[in-house]
This record gives sequence, C-alpha cells and structure tokens, in this order.
Amino acid sequence: MTDRQALLRQLPAVDRLLKMPPLSELAGCHAPVQLRVAAQQAVDELRQRLLAGDEPLPDLAPEAVARLAAKHLNALETSSLRRVLNLTGTVLHTNLGRAPLAESALQAVVAVSRGYSTLEYDLGEGQRGERHVHVEELLCRLTGAEGALAVNNNAGAVLLALAALAGGKSALVSRGELIEIGGSFRIPEIMAAGGVKLIEVGATNKTHLDDYRRAIGPETALILKVHTSNYRILGFTSAVTGEELAVLGRERGIPVLEDLGSGLLLDLADYGLPREPTVRETLATGIDVVTFSGDKLLGGPQAGLIVGRKDIIARLKQHPLARALRLDKMTLAALEATLRLYLDPQQALREIPTLRMLAIPAHELERRCLALLPQLQAASGDQAIFEVTAAMATVGGGAMPLAELPGFAIAVTPRQGSLQQLTARLRKSDPPVIGRIQNDRLLLDPRTLLPGEEPLLATAFAQALAKPADG
Ligand SMILES: *Cc1c(COP(=O)(O)O)cnc(C)c1O
Repeated sequence: MTDRQALLRQLPAVDRLLKMPPLSELAGCHAPVQLRVAAQQAVDELRQRLLAGDEPLPDLAPEAVARLAAKHLNALETSSLRRVLNLTGTVLHTNLGRAPLAESALQAVVAVSRGYSTLEYDLGEGQRGERHVHVEELLCRLTGAEGALAVNNNAGAVLLALAALAGGKSALVSRGELIEIGGSFRIPEIMAAGGVKLIEVGATNKTHLDDYRRAIGPETALILKVHTSNYRILGFTSAVTGEELAVLGRERGIPVLEDLGSGLLLDLADYGLPREPTVRETLATGIDVVTFSGDKLLGGPQAGLIVGRKDIIARLKQHPLARALRLDKMTLAALEATLRLYLDPQQALREIPTLRMLAIPAHELERRCLALLPQLQAASGDQAIFEVTAAMATVGGGAMPLAELPGFAIAVTPRQGSLQQLTARLRKSDPPVIGRIQNDRLLLDPRTLLPGEEPLLATAFAQALAKPADG
C-alpha cells in the first residue's frame, strides 16, 4: 500500500503548473482564466484517481501534470455541438441533427441573424407586424390550406392544437394510433399535458367508423388521427380513413386533426419510396387541421407546421402556448427559404439535401464508393481492408420505417485491433466519423456524406489509423 496522503501532497499547485511547459507556452493564445481552469481540472482529475486507488499510479511529475492540463485546455475549447460526418446511411438521423439545410436556407439564417430584420415589422405600414406572415402564405400555397402556423417542433404543434381545440374537454383516438415517438413523445401523455381527456376507440388492430360514432359525447371536442410513423400493424387490421373521419366530424360539428409526423410536400414514390399522401392530399380529404415536422422529409429546420381551416388556425394563434412555442428568427429564415425552394419541385429536389440524398440512384452510390476507396486506402496506410458492398440505407427520423433504400457502402475491416477500437477512434477524429456496424464490418454509406466532405473523411481515417493499436 502506498501512502495516499503523501501522494496527494505531491500534486503540484496550479500556480506552478501555469509556469510549466507546455502549459506556459500556451499562455500567448489562451485566456488566463481558461489556463487556470484547465490546470485545476488536471489536478482534480489526478486527485480523484489517487483517491480511487487507480493502478498503475499516475505520473505526478509537474511536467506530466502540465501536459495533462494542456489536454484539458484543448477539450475546454472544443465546442460540444460539433459537425460530424454521417456515414450511417440514415438520412434523417435524429441523434445527428436530422435534416442538413439547403444552401439558400443557410444564407438566409446568416443574413437575418447578423443584423436586424423584419421579424415583426411591417415595412409597408411602418409599424409592428406579425412573425407568422413570413411562412403562412407559402405554406398555404404549397398545401392548399386556408391558414398556417409554424411553431417550435411537431410535438409542440400537436400539443398546441390539442390544448387550443380540446383543452378541458375530450378527444377521440384509435387504440391503434396511441404511438410513442423517440424522446418520450407519447400520445396519451401529450394529451394529458394539453389538458385533454383521451377517449380510446376501437382495438389495437382494428378500429371502425362506428367505434368513433358511438364514442362521441357532449364532451367530445376533437377527433385525432395519428400517423403511425415508426411502426406498422400488419395482418388482420383495419383503420378508418381520413375521408370518413372528416365526414363524421362535419356531421357532428367536431374538428378533425391529423398528426402526419413527417409530412411530405412532394410525392417521393418516383424515387423508390413508399407512396404516402402529401400534406395537400391529406387536407383534400376534408381533414380540418394537419400537423407535421419541418426537419423530417421536408428537409428544413426543426419546426412544427400546422395547416388547415382559417378559423381553427386563428384560434391556435391566440392560444398562450403559441407564444411559448414560437419560432425564432433563425429558424423562420431557414424555414421560409426551404419552403420557397418547393415552389419549383425540380429545384426542391436539386437543392434540398434530404431530398437529394433520398433520390440518389444506386449506381451513383457505387461510383462514389469506388472513388472514395483509393483515398481511404491511401490515408490508412494498409491498416485496414476496404471493400465496396451492396447496402441498404433507411430514411430515419421515424419516417417510413419499412422503406429500404438500395445502394452501396464501403465495408472496413481493421487489420489490427478490434472493430470497436476502430469505431471509437473514428469518433475521436476531427471531424468525428459515425458509420454503422454490420456483420462484423464497419459500413460507410456515402449516401449521407455531403458534397465536399470526402477529403475530411480521408483525414479522419488517417488520424484514426495512425494512432497505435492499443490507444
Ligand atoms: C416525429 C413525429 C412527431 C414529433 O415531431 P418533432 O418534430 O420531432 O417534434 C409527432 N408525431 C409523429 C406522428 C411523428 O412522426
């Protein structure tokens, strides 16, 4: 047993570390307070390790502690929210930020955020305006709706619509649609949060129009239909169509809300994706209000879009939650620019990265793999085996869960060390690289690599494989 107290006393003082290279050499280009924090963190880390009885004993020489402090300084100055290279092939990867923005959306964000803007200013009248106007007309044009409103995200859109239309009353939902989306968005809970009493109708696999009809009572203020985005009920099933619900709602004077989840402005069936009704088609069935996400298949910024009957949209705008969930200028700028691209569908397909990635033909992905292969081989100095292989990609974001997008990927097998070591090192490169593991190989799917990122991928591989195999 070593005398722990004696070791703790050997820890150098922060002031001494600040005068010690390499920390002292960094003083010119870092704030003194950052240097001090880093030195303190290094001392704290070693104290914890000594108290925990770590073996082998850490090096307590002042030069070694100063080196450790320099590492802490580097970590302190690296942003937490960073760019990564997505090679998972999952186009709308929620953990990696869902939809990358179109160039015009990025430019709009910069232009509007650098200075002041017409966020709530009417240039014609020279007085206060409404922030909703920037996207309302566009959304109406693109979906055929009478009115539209954009809020923070689709979960917020559903919450607002529920609270405004059925708060203190009840809403009908099919038992087959009581969904949970990742991140604890669950229909029963969101209803409770909106102060709405949930009346479940039908059974898990089958719900009939009569189930809704019988459940309607004096307290019923809303019929909710929810898109089962991330799962499918197969086999002996039946669901009531939006058309039938719209007719029932009109008969009884009860609004019908459909949460579409992803929400498409263009039909993507031509690109091998499952046929799904667009937002326009959904509204055309007679549904009163539709909600959908801005950063799923639409390919824009995080937002929740609500389109539908003018009087209902007006009620939603006046609800206090609309203020709590309102969009900031950066998001509004990106959303407006993204929606503008949809005015010309061909332009949307060309310029919105999400749509472009979904539509890439397999032969193009194979060509990209073949172009990347020698670059990665060269960067890796024969430390791994690279092969081009057929691979399936997914849409992600809980949208179209059964859709598989055929394509190609590069499969990587390290010559030394484990696959886990390789993926861990790639996560630590700059920029970090995220792929997916399949059949004991690391798959790199070029579908989700953005134009111009190829050299960064090669650099990351050089960093990851240059390190010793036990690192
Ligand atoms: C994704 C999804 C949501 C949540 O949307 P966010 O924009 O992530 O808040 C709600 N409902 C359905 C059906 C969804 O698919």
